[in-house]
Amino acid sequence: MRSATVDNNTLKVMDVPTPQPRENELLVKSLVCGVCGSDLHCLHHSHDLAEGTRQIVGQPLVDPDNPILLGHEFCGEVLEVNQKDSPFREGDTVVSLPFLLREEGVSFIGSGGASLPGGFSEQLLVDGRLTMKVPNGLDCNTAALTEPMAVAMHAVRKSEPTQNHVPLVVGCGPIGLAVIAVLKMMKIGPIVASDFSKARRDLAGQMGADVVVNPAEHSPYDSWKEAARTTDASLAGPVSPLLGGHDLKPSLIFECVGVPGLIQNVCAGAPFGARIVVVGLCMEKDNLIPAMPVLKELDLRFVSFYTPEEFGDTLRSLAEGELEASGLISDVVGMDQINSAFDRLAKPESDVKIMVQPWA
Ligand SMILES: [Zn+2]
Repeated sequence: MRSATVDNNTLKVMDVPTPQPRENELLVKSLVCGVCGSDLHCLHHSHDLAEGTRQIVGQPLVDPDNPILLGHEFCGEVLEVNQKDSPFREGDTVVSLPFLLREEGVSFIGSGGASLPGGFSEQLLVDGRLTMKVPNGLDCNTAALTEPMAVAMHAVRKSEPTQNHVPLVVGCGPIGLAVIAVLKMMKIGPIVASDFSKARRDLAGQMGADVVVNPAEHSPYDSWKEAARTTDASLAGPVSPLLGGHDLKPSLIFECVGVPGLIQNVCAGAPFGARIVVVGLCMEKDNLIPAMPVLKELDLRFVSFYTPEEFGDTLRSLAEGELEASGLISDVVGMDQINSAFDRLAKPESDVKIMVQPWA
């Protein structure tokens, strides 16, 4: 079967063996799979990714010296079930957390070798215990957004928002836009969002941001203050005798960029007592002057992935139409255009999510 494979920092469509489901696993046909920033990172920096994940989780998540089969944001159709008392039947449309819970350990779907295909393969294996049926006839492109939207759902829940918080989303790439959509669904606002790209600012507005800022022209932190100003002292957030805050609602800042210097930058702009959630995945060394968050009593939180419950809640919210995410999809292409899809996303102008149909 055909599979989009990273070989020597080149993306090629190769022929790989069709996998056999082990116990508790399902063989599914990949209907569609979204291209993620981490797929691009894996394509161009697989050695760094192997070394980085070896240091962080104790084992490299990729083997850069062999073909890597990408794709973890997929929606599929069940072809074969190898699970006792399985709730799944042939023909079910499903999404799954991108993990296989195997005896030898957990495998991540979308960074494995030739025996572990990802969503950019015609067929792949999923774990029946981490798989969910797509409800309400939700279309497969939107269903495939469950994974990236679940990242945003997790980030927002970890921020423990109240109706009184005023959020600032720094960076409106796929994850920043997804965070805006989740905040909108939860009716946390007004939402302030900033990005240097005009196309992304426009999208941020469409996804539900109330104030969009070009940081080249205007400080996002000043715009946040204007949005968070209150004359009602009972609504004020943390107050410092030195740094004030008595006229500002509490702030939630989502760092969705992930480049060196950003965390320090956000700490410098944040008001006293701000809660900062770092979602951007920076794989390089960074500098932070700790006195900044210390003296401002900033609450820095780092988040990644999601729980199975959050994944399921995200799928349900998408299917119920409460969570509006289809605006993230810029294009749907066939396998023969996967290289140009990766090229477009390497220097994105208006592209956010490009969905690839492995059978097309
Ligand atoms: Zn992803």
